[in-house]
Amino acid sequence: MKFAGLSAALLLVSGASAQMQKAPGRHAIFARANAPQNAEDMAKVYDPEKACKPYSPQEITQLLKDKRFPKPNKIATIVDGDDEARKLWEEIQQSNVIPKDIKVKPSVDKSHEEVDGDTDKYNDDKDPDCWWTASECKKPKHQNIPEDIYECPEPNTWGLTFDDGPNCTHNVFYDFLKEKKLKATLFYIGSYVMNLPYQAQRGLADGHDICGHTWSHHAMSTLTDEQVFAELYYTGRILKAVLNVSTTCWRPPFGDVDDRVRAIANALGYRTIIWKQDTNDWELSDLSKKGKVQKDYKKIISKAGKESPIVLTHELYNSTMGTFMENYDELSKAYKNVVPVTACQNVTSPYLEGDILYPTFDELTSGKAQYKGLPSLKDMKINTDVQYKPVPFSQKKVGFAPGAKQPESKGKGGTEEGDSNESSENSKDQKGGEDDNEGESSTSQKDGVSQDKQNSDNNDKGDGSGALSLSGASMLHVYFATLFALLAVMVSF
Ligand SMILES: [Zn+2]
Repeated sequence: MKFAGLSAALLLVSGASAQMQKAPGRHAIFARANAPQNAEDMAKVYDPEKACKPYSPQEITQLLKDKRFPKPNKIATIVDGDDEARKLWEEIQQSNVIPKDIKVKPSVDKSHEEVDGDTDKYNDDKDPDCWWTASECKKPKHQNIPEDIYECPEPNTWGLTFDDGPNCTHNVFYDFLKEKKLKATLFYIGSYVMNLPYQAQRGLADGHDICGHTWSHHAMSTLTDEQVFAELYYTGRILKAVLNVSTTCWRPPFGDVDDRVRAIANALGYRTIIWKQDTNDWELSDLSKKGKVQKDYKKIISKAGKESPIVLTHELYNSTMGTFMENYDELSKAYKNVVPVTACQNVTSPYLEGDILYPTFDELTSGKAQYKGLPSLKDMKINTDVQYKPVPFSQKKVGFAPGAKQPESKGKGGTEEGDSNESSENSKDQKGGEDDNEGESSTSQKDGVSQDKQNSDNNDKGDGSGALSLSGASMLHVYFATLFALLAVMVSF
């Protein structure tokens, strides 16, 4: 079964969370009082105990109290009393854009975390639903649904994408991207954004592309129409509340998408972005797979000059971020251009609001890129009165909509703001690198037990991912920090 590994890891996490639900509330209050109070402070935190302590700002607490969002990490449905979401969902249903001949796909467990891709009731060869899980289909079989994005038109280009963020301890990794003048497309999980809003804010302020990756990271083809809507819609709404942008792109967890799911995403104004090459780095929940993942990286590196794939990598674990950093020298020597999906597709205005402008491919790779309108970390606020109005591509061709008119990012767009207006060259300079990260360590709030094991294994192997690995002495520390984090997160919600 294709997705067993990642699902098992996620199950482990949700299992651990379930046991923690009855913990006393004072933990959460204590954690909040000692947590960084904004994104700027959080971006300076490298101690995993601090970075992964839940902090649930009062705005997030308020949003949950006001019933603007479903429970984090659970399959989303429209929240009771959320008339705005209900009305939009009814409009989408009435617009008849959702194909009626596509069945909800069977899952192999009740949690819908594993789709049964081998179901013999489905004709994989004909693949009438353009179901990626069956045939890696990317070109819809149904009318008026745009093709998935999976490669870059320019030669010798690596499309840089990271799924499953934000991670509580990604500062080392985001620093690395900054230092190498790299921009990436980040696919954020809605529930994670809710738990880690300051980390999410850094992603946008650093000039990366932000796209959704569903509310609870389940196999979307196994969910009902309304669940698919809610998973996508609430992810868009939390991104709007935390980042003040309305995204126009998403990636299906496990790649599991068919024309029914695409149509609902499309009705919300989200283009489906998939990949052409997979590092399979999610398998690093088991560090014995390190050799295999390295081989997969090498295989993709060897394709330089022959294709320009969008590549699937993850912000999921320290090991996935670390493995990218280890491989970056080699991959950037092989591929002339390493770019996010905006530059790859020449999308300069990826958000509905249109006031943030990203560089074109030429601008980014010529080293003269300017980013306009990006917020600076210190000014970012979480909006408790979030107004989120997604627009279907059929009504307004913007962002990642096929054929959307893209404003010029050069010489237009008024004043330059924020701290991300640096001239960006896709440079291959190797100054700094891992050495700069000496002494920093991290772990993941959500990956709990498996993360600890991973770091421990990393140390044993001395595999070069020292930037993110932990000293033995801090392991116990991190174990309690993680346990504490899980406890308090569950209490907060
Ligand atoms: Zn994912």
